[in-house]
Amino acid sequence: MNVEQDVALGRLTTVGIGGPARHFARPQTVGELEEVLRWAAAEGLDLLTIGLGSNVLIADEGVDALILRLEGELAAAEARDGLLGAGGGAANAVCLHRTRAAGLGGFEFACAIPGTIGGGVRMNAGAYGGDWRGILERALVATAEGSGWRTPGELGLEYRRSALQPGEVVARAEFRLAPKPPNEIKATVADLQAQRKAAQPTNKRTFGSVFKNPEHELSAGRMLEAVGLKGYRIGGAQISPRHGNFIENAGEARAKEALALMAEARRRALEEFGVELVHEVRLVGGLELPPAGERL
Ligand SMILES: Cc1cc2nc3c(=O)[nH]c(=O)nc-3n(C[C@H](O)[C@H](O)[C@H](O)COP(=O)(O)OP(=O)(O)OC[C@H]3O[C@@H](n4cnc5c(N)ncnc54)[C@H](O)[C@@H]3O)c2cc1C
Repeated sequence: MNVEQDVALGRLTTVGIGGPARHFARPQTVGELEEVLRWAAAEGLDLLTIGLGSNVLIADEGVDALILRLEGELAAAEARDGLLGAGGGAANAVCLHRTRAAGLGGFEFACAIPGTIGGGVRMNAGAYGGDWRGILERALVATAEGSGWRTPGELGLEYRRSALQPGEVVARAEFRLAPKPPNEIKATVADLQAQRKAAQPTNKRTFGSVFKNPEHELSAGRMLEAVGLKGYRIGGAQISPRHGNFIENAGEARAKEALALMAEARRRALEEFGVELVHEVRLVGGLELPPAGERL
């Protein structure tokens, strides 16, 4: 298994921020994945899998770890007999294409989620009333000790989280779907995409929702709008003028500028609403937020 050194990660994320990975590998089969996981364990390396990098903020200094990107058969997908089967690195867009061609409905909600199958399991991704937990049958999880299938219950899928640990990699997943005519799938997707375009910055470099929605009458986005943060900028990072719960890379944004915006957003939400916002985006490479209420 070829392991590359000092691979730039920013270009592998949707927000375009982040320094290099010390070690980087692209396993293509379950065998290659297990081999590289054993190697990382023997070397005592920390491990992180990256999908489409659509929900990560990576430190400017990079990551002193092994970063894995699943390719080849670990990024392939097929749909038939009521099942979508896909590698952990398969893009949601490819999976949606396969399910539509096979006349299988139930995955349309993922049309607005620009990630991979494995990233979706890790985050229990969801939108428009659907999520991974609702359709997932089982996932093949690889570790340095070997691979095994897990049910949604065993994966601990909850709102935008799972019980998966950094050394556990989703190599493959299977979803139960229902027959639906391709033209109806197409119409549903067009409708959801139009809704998304009307409400969120779809053509900007972002990492998706910054914060989870709190248990409050206002969503995180509405809260940050109410405290006047829409359009607020620190360096090259800006709270989206379209939607308060998105941070855009509006120039050559640095991770520490995005982090400073997140700290300011938490400070204002606490001050104004008494709510401690919890971040949804995964912070990678030692990035840490200060306690709620403090600036960075
Ligand atoms: C414009 C935009 C809109 C978005 N809208 C939504 C939305 O509506 N709903 C929603 O839920 N999310 C949304 N997101 C966030 C993001 O797309 C999802 O969380 C997605 O599931 C992340 O997938 P990914 O493959 O990009 O994961 P990454 O961002 O690469 O990684 C996210 C986490 O998953 C882990 N991971 C990735 N692959 C694997 C694997 N194979 N095995 C184990 N762990 C893995 C990573 O280590 C990391 O902890 C949006 C993002 C953007 C940029």
